[in-house]
Amino acid sequence: MQFLNTWKDPASERLVYFSAQVIEVFERYIQGENDAEAGGILLGHVRGIHLEVLEATVPTRKDRRLKYFFERLVEGHKGIAERRWRESNGLVRYLGEWHTHPEDHPTPSGLDISEWQKLAAARRDGRPMLAVIVGRRDLRVEYSSSNGARLRLYHSSSGQ
Ligand SMILES: [Zn+2]
Repeated sequence: MQFLNTWKDPASERLVYFSAQVIEVFERYIQGENDAEAGGILLGHVRGIHLEVLEATVPTRKDRRLKYFFERLVEGHKGIAERRWRESNGLVRYLGEWHTHPEDHPTPSGLDISEWQKLAAARRDGRPMLAVIVGRRDLRVEYSSSNGARLRLYHSSSGQ
């Protein structure tokens, strides 16, 4: 199975493209029955209205032992985001986060939705944050805004 790499908001034609590295990370961490939830942050380029996601950070050793992803998101992963930003002269930036669910077709929990809203509010550039849930058979891809608005993206048939 291969997750699709191009996602689209049908109304605005906004695209989100995941690099091969990102898809590989998602597939490596597909959550089995006895696995802990995994996750990390998403880094890449903003290209006009589109996003190009170049890198998904992977869980640290410490992350993997903890049950809830959001409590530990800030630690560790934030340092990577700041390093990439500096190394790329500001071209590679924090775009959002990803985490796994042990569901075929994942849907966000109430906690996911409220945490996404908080993460969006914490962004310095005021952009919505990209939120990805990695299920067993499919991804859930959304934009979450600081005012609580959510926008779901869908597979793009034209992007393949
Ligand atoms: Zn979740």
